[in-house]
Order: sequence, then C-alpha cells, then structure tokens
Amino acid sequence: MPKYLTLTDYALITNSAPIKRQTHGWRAKCLQRLVRLDMPVPMTIALSFGVVREIATGAQMTLRHLLGHFPEGQLLSVRPSAEHPQWGGPAAILNIGMNDAMHEKLTASHGEEVATALYLNFVQAFAQHVARLDPDMFDADKPTRAALDAALRAYEDEMEDPFPQSVAQQLADVLRSMARAWEGTSARLLRQAKGAPVDAGLGLVVQAMAGGMGVGYGTTDACGVGMIRFIDATTGAPQVMGRFRPDRSEETLFLTHDARGPSLEDRSPEAFTQLLAYGANARKRLREEMEIEFTLEDGKLWILDAVTVPRSSRAAVRVVVDLANDGVILRDEAISRIAPKALGELLHRQVDPKARATVLGRGIAASPGAAAGRLVFSSAAALASAARDEPCILARRETTPEDIRGMHSAHAVLTERGGMTSHAAVIGRGLGVPCVVGASNITIDARRKTLQANGHTLNEGDLITIDGTNGLALAGEVALLEPALDDRFTTLLDWADARRDIGIRANADTPADARIAREFQAQGIGLCRTEHMFFEEDRLTLMREMIFADTSEDRRDALDRLLPMQRADFIDLFEIMQGQPVCIRLFDPPLHEFLPHSREGMRFLADALDKPLSEITRRAEALAEFNPMLGMRGVRLGITLPEIYEMQARAIFEATIEVTRRGAPIVPEIMIPLVSAMREVELVKSRIDSCAAQVRGRAGVDFDYKLGVMVETPRAALRAGDIAQHAAFLSFGTNDLTQMTYGLSRDDAGRFMSDYVQQGVFAEDPFHTLDEDGVGELLRLGAARGRAARDDLTLSICGEHGGSPEAIRFCRDLGFDYVSCSPFRVPVARLAAAQLVI
Ligand code: PEP
Ligand code: MG
Repeated sequence: MPKYLTLTDYALITNSAPIKRQTHGWRAKCLQRLVRLDMPVPMTIALSFGVVREIATGAQMTLRHLLGHFPEGQLLSVRPSAEHPQWGGPAAILNIGMNDAMHEKLTASHGEEVATALYLNFVQAFAQHVARLDPDMFDADKPTRAALDAALRAYEDEMEDPFPQSVAQQLADVLRSMARAWEGTSARLLRQAKGAPVDAGLGLVVQAMAGGMGVGYGTTDACGVGMIRFIDATTGAPQVMGRFRPDRSEETLFLTHDARGPSLEDRSPEAFTQLLAYGANARKRLREEMEIEFTLEDGKLWILDAVTVPRSSRAAVRVVVDLANDGVILRDEAISRIAPKALGELLHRQVDPKARATVLGRGIAASPGAAAGRLVFSSAAALASAARDEPCILARRETTPEDIRGMHSAHAVLTERGGMTSHAAVIGRGLGVPCVVGASNITIDARRKTLQANGHTLNEGDLITIDGTNGLALAGEVALLEPALDDRFTTLLDWADARRDIGIRANADTPADARIAREFQAQGIGLCRTEHMFFEEDRLTLMREMIFADTSEDRRDALDRLLPMQRADFIDLFEIMQGQPVCIRLFDPPLHEFLPHSREGMRFLADALDKPLSEITRRAEALAEFNPMLGMRGVRLGITLPEIYEMQARAIFEATIEVTRRGAPIVPEIMIPLVSAMREVELVKSRIDSCAAQVRGRAGVDFDYKLGVMVETPRAALRAGDIAQHAAFLSFGTNDLTQMTYGLSRDDAGRFMSDYVQQGVFAEDPFHTLDEDGVGELLRLGAARGRAARDDLTLSICGEHGGSPEAIRFCRDLGFDYVSCSPFRVPVARLAAAQLVI
C-alpha cells in the first residue's frame, strides 16, 4: 500500500518562519533572507529534506492544503534547494498550472502567441524532466498552435494518458520526479565529488510565478525577465553583468548603458538603481556575490530568486579574498569557503600556444585545462593506467554513469558526441578533468580500440593531448604551460599557511618537479625517488648497465659513471629548494621496470653495452622475478649490493658540501625504502655513516645529515619501535603499504577494482582513498610505537594519499609532522590542512 502523505508539513517563507539551511536547503534559506532584506519576493513555500525524502519513496500526496495559499489560476515554479548550492539538484520547472483552460484564458488576455508559447514550454519541460520522454519528440522550431497540439498528442501517445490538466496532479508529478532525480547515481556521485555527504538531503521551493497573474508576460515595454550579477563569473572581478528580455520584444537588453544598443539602465533607470542597491545589500548581508533573477511587471520589480553566482574556481578565490579584504567575512571564513579540490582547476596546465601541434579534431571546450597521456577506450583501461601511475586520456563515443570511475582516473576525456550539458561535460567539469565533447569529426571505435580523425588512426596506448580550454584533440604529447597563479590565490594560501599546523612537502624527483614544488611553496621535498632520475633514455642505459653487471668490478665501473650525474642532480635539487629539507630515497627500482622487455630492447642494450645478445638474454633471465614488486627491491638491493647505496650516499654528501660552500647550507635527509627488519636499517646506517666519515675526511669539511626509514611493509609498521631506534624519521609509503596490507597488486588491481567498488566490497579504491580502517590501523600502530621509542621522531606520509584532504586529517590526528604529495596537490593540501584547524 503506498503511503499517503497529506502535505501540510511545509513552511511559508516569511520573515519569521523556522527555515534552516540544514532542513530546507540553501535556496529556501536564501529566499527567506531576501524577504528579510525587504526585497519583493512572490509567495514561496519550502518543503523540507524529510518531506522530499518521503515524496521520493512514492508517498501519495494531497496538495489541496498547500495550493490553498495561492490564488486560483496562479502559475507556479518549483526549484531545488540542497543544503549547499554547489551540490546541484534537478532542473527547475516553471509555469506549473498551464493547461487547456489557462491557455484559453491567457489567449483572451494576452493573445494566442503568448499563451501558446507558455503552454508549449511547459509541456516540453514536463515531458522531458518529469515524464522522462525523449526530448527530440518535443522539439519545435516555433511555438505555434500546431506545435502545441503535436506536443500534446505526442505526450498522450507515449504515456497513454492525456497531458495532466489538474494543477495538483502536475505539481505532485513535478515534486515526485525532482525528489527521485536527487536519488539518482549520477546526481549522487556528482554532489559527493563536491563534498556532499552520502545522505545529503534535498529541499524544494514552490513559488508563485511573479507579478499580477504570475505569467511573466506583460502588456507594456516595462515588463520582462532578467538576471543581474555584480562580478565577472570567470575572473571574479567586479562588473555588472546579466541580461534583460522585455516580453514584447525579441531583443535582449544590455543591463548598463551601452552605445551598442538599448539598456535596462536607460529604459527603466529606477528599477536598475533599485537592483544595484539590492545587489550591494545582498553582498553585505548575505556575505556572498549573488546573482539575482528578477521580473518587471509594468515597471514593478519582483525578485524571484538569488543564487550565489556560479563561478570558476579562479573567480571563487577572488570573491572570498575580496569579501575578506572588504571586511564582509573573516579570513578564516574565506579559507573554509573554498573546497580544496576546487583549487585543482586553477592549477591546470594549458597547451603552450607556441607549441606546434597537429589538430586531430575539434569539439566543445567542456572542461578547462590540458593534459597529455596514453589513449584508452574503456573505464577499466583508465583505472588500470591510474593504478600504474600512467597518465591516460579516456576516449568514448559518449559517457554514461558507468564511466564515472574511469573519468576519475583519466587525465582528460574526449567524446565524439554530446554538448555542453552532456554527461561527459557535466561530470568532467564536476571532477575538474579537462574534457572535450562532441568532437564529431572523430570516430571512436571502442571495440577495435581505434580513433580515426583527420586522416590519422590512433590505437590504444598512443599518445594524445586534450585541450579542454579550446576544445581540441591534438596528436602526440604537446608541450604544456604550467598554470599562472594570481595574487588572490597566493593571498588565500598565505592566510591558510598562517593557520595550519601540519607541514606540507612535495614528492619531487626532478629539478622541474622541485621548481613547481617551490612555486607552490612546499616546505621541502618529502620524497625524491632517485630511480626516477634515470628514466631518460641515455641515463636508463647506464642504469641498466649497473643492474646487468655480473661482477662487482663491472658494477663499480657503472656506478663511477653514475656518481657525477647523481651529485649534479642533488646539487640542483638542493639549490632549487634553497635550504628547505630534501628527503632523498635511496634506489628502489622494481627490477622489471628496468629490464628490457622485447627482443629489440635486448638487442639495443647489447649494442649499448657492447655485449653479445646471448649474454644480455641470459642475464635478463637470471634477474627476472616471479613477483618483482615483492622481490629484489629497495633495501634488499642495498643489503645485497652495498656499493649502490654507497655511491648514492657519497653523491648526496658531496652535493651537500658543494651547496654549503656556495652559501646555501643544507641538512640532507636520506631515506631507506622497503624496510621490514631493524637489522636492515642497522646495516645500511653503519655503511652510510662510514661513507660520511670518508667524505668528511677527504674534503676536510663537516656536515650533518638525517637518516630515516620508509614504512611500506606491514612488518615495518608493527616493528616501528625497534626501527625508530636507528631512524630520525619514519615516512609511511602508503602505496606499498596498501599493496601489502591488502595483498593487492598495485599494477593489476585496476582489472577488478571497479567491480569491487561497484559491488560495495570496497567503499573506495584503497590506492586512491586511504583505507583508514586497515592501512590506517598500521599507521596508528607504527606512529605510536615509533614515538614511544623515540619522542623526537619525525613522522610523515609520502604515498599518493598524502595530498588528499581526508588523509591529511587522519595523519594530523595521529600527530604527524608533515604530509608529502605530488607538487600539483600542494596548494590543495595547504588549504585542506588549514581547514582542519578552523
Ligand atoms: C609508497 O610505496 O607509498 C611510495 C611512496 O613509494 P613508491 O610509490 O615509489 O613505491
Ligand atoms: Mg614504495
């Protein structure tokens, strides 16, 4: 039996009604504030989250009581009212109450054209959003009587019921469909990406369409609908913008006086002045930049709605900084108003305009920023790339809700179909992923894994660049420009720095990374993966030579040639970081990443090393491991082949002496990877100590350094107390720690992760979101045991989780000294850390 809901539990929006954002949503609260600011708001009724939830579950409604507040024949609108404006909500539905009788009445009073346009608009909106019929069936070029009749017929054919004529029925259907839309998967994932909790509620606002009969179609020139805002939504700079469309005219008026054509300011100066005053008052009293929707009804101004101006992240930052500088809000509020993840959009790279690029296709610039990566054609492939830490571009004909996780993992998205409000575009913007949609000259064949465009055929794995700012797909990996950061951005982050109480460092392997880290004001490098310094072709060969060496002598020879390169690398890093701490991790090369895989690769190496191919093949076979991620990695290499770590230690110490001599003294931090036993640390430490003594003796110069351990194995976390006796710091490497805690391969988990998440086995991909219950328990134990053994122990996290606001909260609660994350996440981390204090 369906539940029967007599809708009496609603609130009339008046000065004193008990409307709260937490119960009725942001819009209802805002409308009440407008009423309190003495703005002329038409009769409005707010439904609470609880009521809307009941409506969604299918409760039957009787609306007589509610409708009793509106005069007979009053047209109505319904708008969503979530707790936070950024959490979105279903599209507003206007002109509820239009039916055959109203059409006749309006034809008599306003003419057939007006009546038909209103009725047709309503039928179209109702069919699409409420009855969920195919919008194409209701397309009409012009609102003619024939088009209206056709739409009514199409509705009746599809629904096997005539278009509802009763206002109560129309309103009930609208309320139910909006309540249900809120519960849909896409809506839920989108709002969660904006920080909404799982159980976020939706309120609904029912309002009389403004003025007189509430039609919005007046009989004189001083009638019409408009919107005004007081900032530029892209930059946030002060500027009056918006539009006004008089009912009796096809043209849209400028708002402010403009030589190019008529303006509201010239036509209705009083209303315009009134709007400016309302805007200024709203900014001050609502402490926000508002966009005000209004109507003029024979010169009388009605305020229908005000929403915070939808804005780019750049504008959002400027607005809060300007509001704080104007004394409208406090700095702390400015800090807490910006979602840390939104800063990501400001940090996007752009295609270097000077770069030469081949355009594969053009589409709609749906989400800004640019990214290059390897082409993938499915979400599963995107997830697998992300698990390998390999940037990828997801190409789909169009995306569906099943693709959201893939889009999350991709660096950019390209679709063949779709427009600015297509799924891919909406989700892309929501997630801050550069996105080009509707690139119709491109043919994407997901089955064959090919992309054809402009005479080119690309296969899965080929490099492609997406320019989401200009709507372009470009061949290959095109040079990108780092983002320019304006002074409002810097100011906000300076304010955040003044508040936060946990350090933020960057993971940086190369001088380029280190420069970005500096620019984003990281407080040092928390992880320099030294093996990543050897990924370039010429260096890679030398690294392979060292790995392939059969004898100690051969290895030493290769190491002697690696030493000056490493020393130069470290000098560079130390100089760029200008005395800030730099934590260098000794080699941790999973061997399979450094072995040639193909016959051709073997031949190339044989040439490079001047050795017979058979010897290279034999050595590669000897070095091959069944399970390389658990094999000869990290400290195991250091224990078995001590000369490697000795070379690195020497390079670090000699670089330290050199930069100190140049006037930028530094205390380097050396970190041992993949430790599982205290004895490993003891052995490596004594060798590094003696290397330091040698370098000191030879150079006749003293220097200091710190030795620490990466906690990446469960055993290291459990035995953190022993390990801390030989370590000045512990840094939790949550990538390997997650891999080993779950027994889940970092490189292969992508294959089944989406199934696992979809079926609710894991709430989230644990390589993406720190598993606080399991991996987090090891962090908790490790931190407590380490600190108990040594109270001056420095604690940090340097796995990929280090930049996520949730992980920062977790680590801060455990008393960590700092988090380290990729350079681009440093600003996000700085803001997120400050929000934890406020
Ligand atoms: C880790 O394991 O968390 C880590 C930072 O090291 P890598 O990702 O290089 O294995
Ligand atoms: Mg690791």
